[in-house]
Amino acid sequence: MTYFYGGDGFILAHRRGFYLTAGMPIVLHDTLSREMRPLSLKAGKSTFGMYCCGPTVYGPAHIGNFRTFTLQDVLRRTLEVDGLKVKHVRNITDVDDKTIRGAQAAGQTLTDFTKKWTEKFHADCKALGLLTPQVEPSAVAHIPQQIAMIQALVERGHAYVSKDGSVYFKVHSCKGYGKLSHIDFSKQETQATNSAGEANDADEYERESASDFALWKSRKPEDGNNFWPSPWGEGRPGWHIECSAMSLAHLGATFDLHGGGIDLCFPHHENEIAQTECATGINGFAAHWFHSAHLLVEGEKMSKSKGNLFTLDELVAKGFSPMEVRYALIAGHYRTSLNFTMKGLEDARSALGKIERGVEKLLQVAGFTKAEFSVPTVMETQTAWGRFAHAWEVLQHDLNIPGCLGQVFTMLADKSELTEAQARHDLSGLGKILYALGLVLFTEVAGPSAPANVVALAAQRWAAKQAKDFAAADRLRKELTELGWTMLDHKDGYDLKKSV
Ligand code: AMP
Ligand code: ZN
Repeated sequence: MTYFYGGDGFILAHRRGFYLTAGMPIVLHDTLSREMRPLSLKAGKSTFGMYCCGPTVYGPAHIGNFRTFTLQDVLRRTLEVDGLKVKHVRNITDVDDKTIRGAQAAGQTLTDFTKKWTEKFHADCKALGLLTPQVEPSAVAHIPQQIAMIQALVERGHAYVSKDGSVYFKVHSCKGYGKLSHIDFSKQETQATNSAGEANDADEYERESASDFALWKSRKPEDGNNFWPSPWGEGRPGWHIECSAMSLAHLGATFDLHGGGIDLCFPHHENEIAQTECATGINGFAAHWFHSAHLLVEGEKMSKSKGNLFTLDELVAKGFSPMEVRYALIAGHYRTSLNFTMKGLEDARSALGKIERGVEKLLQVAGFTKAEFSVPTVMETQTAWGRFAHAWEVLQHDLNIPGCLGQVFTMLADKSELTEAQARHDLSGLGKILYALGLVLFTEVAGPSAPANVVALAAQRWAAKQAKDFAAADRLRKELTELGWTMLDHKDGYDLKKSV
């Protein structure tokens, strides 16, 4: 029998159904019902559809953004270990006020500007060990779908065209508006602030009511060349409509789970529900809402506008590894704000070291080498959880990562004498938990982690290859070779290896 740990090998084992789970469904807090609810496949469905709002690509994502994306990655991995096949869709917001202003300031086209920041985002995701979503749709590539949805809303009486050719969603026409954020919209409410209490800077033109929001924004001189034709004249989509149109295109009118940072709960997600349900006439847009609390710096949300942000590159330059950053970002409960400190990163370093030393001891007793822990390895016990069954159950209950890690440390500190078989059971259980958390150990065995410029070049080459720009892909491969790195391509991704 074969046990796989690490990267694709582990997923392969999982897809083939080689191991069993501890037999409990994952339960997770749902923002809409405010209840703990089990996550499972709907009758007749073979995949679990998960839509996550992606980055606005006008600069490097900060580690606050990555807290949200990494927690979504842990949720996806946990569902996979639990035996579900997940279809993960995460969009790219590549047209809005910020991307347009950023492109103009950089003297670039919107396409070139957003491509550069999308590639940087991909490079950071790879360094942090985030699994690639199966679909990563861009807003610009879905303009016709957005127009079609706005048309449906106008036809059904849920939207109106203003004098300047902008189109607004009529909030009072939507029964149940406010159900996600639990705001009573029968009283006059506005979209002036979001659910994190911050000013909502989306520009609005000629609304009938303060709560109405833009679906289509008529062309303005400051938009430059960034406009598209529509039945209402030239313009561009409002922000909220892109996620409704892209989730409909890739997951259908209803799907299993929707995720985002807590600031998106209102108005963005409330508006997504309203747009999709009113356009399709089908209730029950996302069955489950997964919102993660913010990363804070000295008590304030980390954000580009506040200028209190850290990027992954900045932390790597301070000597921390992306895996240490990942650990620090997931170490707190997802529903609690996490205060970011350098001390938190140092704690992450020592926690990872502790796990590595614990695993080394287990490997010794089990008769395996470190390298065998990170590549497909022959094991007899791939279904076992050993002493880590409880840690897994803790993770399954509302994605309690700190509780799960606490249980892992308790078990690793347990000095009981183990037999070879028991140590193998432990490695099987702990290996699955580490996969779910996306924590890769002994990176020196798998090879040194590549420097940020190499990671960025590799992401560019992969994007060029996907776009069938083979000349650019070859040129970038050459550049990587000159820097002493080789890219090993797989069907849906790649690895970077130091050349020998
Ligand atoms: P944006 O690139 O601004 O569209 O945000 C991308 C994702 O990051 C969204 O899900 C946001 O809710 C999330 N986000 C933004 N700031 C933070 C923060 N400080 N902590 C956690 N998540 C955040
Ligand atoms: Zn969204």
